Amino acid sequence: MSNARRKRRTERRAAERKAGVDGLNQTMSALDGAHIPGGCDHCDAYQVIRANQLTMGGVTEMGHGVHTIEVHHDDDCPVLLKMQRVA
Ligand SMILES: [Zn+2]
Repeated sequence: MSNARRKRRTERRAAERKAGVDGLNQTMSALDGAHIPGGCDHCDAYQVIRANQLTMGGVTEMGHGVHTIEVHHDDDCPVLLKMQRVA
């Protein structure tokens, strides 16, 4: 394969990756704050999508391309109680 052809292929793949990431970011942004039932087999949990933000240890950082899904368990969920004991 010629260097020019290899360069075109590399550029095309980079453009395809960027388009894929941009599409994912647009989809996640549209879903920001959405509540989704489920997320735990042991309680009546629900999940919340947080687009472009990451919260760890009570600190929230905003950043393009970082998305999280929070799982909110019932207060008496055995899985939650187990996680709190480990932490
Ligand atoms: Zn649970």
